Amino acid sequence: MNVEVVTIGDELLLGFTVDTNAAHLARELASAGVGIARRTTCGDDPAKIADAVKEALDRTGAVITTGGLGPTSDDLTKPSIAAIFGRAMKFDAAIWEELKVRWASYRWPGTIPESNKQQAFIPEGAVILKNGHGSAPGIWLEDDRGRWVAMLPGVPREMRGMLADELLPRILARATGEKTVVASLTLRTIGIGESALADLLGPLAKGPKDLPLAYLPSVEGTDLRLTTRDSSSDVALKKLREGAAELRAVLGPLVYGEGKTDLASVVLDLLRAGKMKIAVAESCTGGMLGARLTAIAGSSDVVLGGVIAYANDVKESKLGVSAATLLAHGAVSQETAREMATGVCEKFGSEVGVSITGIAGPGGGTAEKPVGTVCIAVSAAGALSSVRVQMIGDRDEIRRRSAQAALNLVRRALTAS
Ligand code: AMP
Ligand code: MG
Repeated sequence: MNVEVVTIGDELLLGFTVDTNAAHLARELASAGVGIARRTTCGDDPAKIADAVKEALDRTGAVITTGGLGPTSDDLTKPSIAAIFGRAMKFDAAIWEELKVRWASYRWPGTIPESNKQQAFIPEGAVILKNGHGSAPGIWLEDDRGRWVAMLPGVPREMRGMLADELLPRILARATGEKTVVASLTLRTIGIGESALADLLGPLAKGPKDLPLAYLPSVEGTDLRLTTRDSSSDVALKKLREGAAELRAVLGPLVYGEGKTDLASVVLDLLRAGKMKIAVAESCTGGMLGARLTAIAGSSDVVLGGVIAYANDVKESKLGVSAATLLAHGAVSQETAREMATGVCEKFGSEVGVSITGIAGPGGGTAEKPVGTVCIAVSAAGALSSVRVQMIGDRDEIRRRSAQAALNLVRRALTAS
């Protein structure tokens, strides 16, 4: 079964509000086996609303709208859609009574504003979708050919509640044919771009076992998401596991986890397993790496602390980086990074030390060391490794990518991969 979604609101078109309703509807409907054929957004304009909904109805016959059910002059959804169905608006005394009771329960002074009365007008022949989370009721309107429009409120919390309580059961009850579930599994990779991943995967690049594969790059790496549509979640899960195993066989240590796994927690687990403590020495990331590690509850058993060694003086005095190294190679160099990593191990008495020094920009780049040049080093149980990486993005991205790359270098040092 397929539906179309129309989200309504000038704030969505202007970009002031991110359309989280459409994303939530897409996820919830997909996991219930309902496909979204198309998504449309329109402003608070009765003609535009009517056009968008009418076109969606003609194409798909099943439409969910969000927004424009409130009590103010920009809330125009109900009459616009009633007009498509050739229905008049009628006053529903029961809804009005409920609104008054709800208003009284808020303990606000005065009586309910007259403008709220608009919420008690519904199209003739409409079914009310109860709103257990707010004031505006939702509406289900259907014509004699079985084509329907469900109108939900725009406020995300109310929309989510009404979808779960009222609308999904109603949609599923009319979904004919075989029931399906849509399920996904995400593998998290780091240290390789999406096109290189596709090359490496070769014949699996479009997805193993005919499961479509999505490439989702971000500052944390590239996630690979497998999706399947099956008759039951057991079947779906089995297919996803088999597909993921095929990908893992090719990708090996490029994969650091599944789902929402945080690379910092992978590193903490490795440190615990090796009974090792870690200390950080950060220049351009200014504490972001320490923040990533300590954001995870329970990190205190393996994280000792760190030094924000932004100035060269501090690199020398607090970490023991030699003046000669700084002079010969510069603050942003693998040589300096290596001395920062060994220095922080000595100062803190940790088995593992990790350092970051780089040029986050926007200024400070040179031809030899452009903005985004970042050197990272790890000292782990006496063995030293380092890399020089060219990061892309703005200052914030470069810093976030650097912290993630440093975590990855620790992970690889601890797994010897
Ligand atoms: P409305 O029901 O149109 O009066 O919308 C009420 C509020 O809900 C708006 O001010 C927005 O903050 C929010 N909202 C409306 N539509 C959406 C949407 N599609 N995604 C996220 N928030 C929304
Ligand atoms: Mg609105």
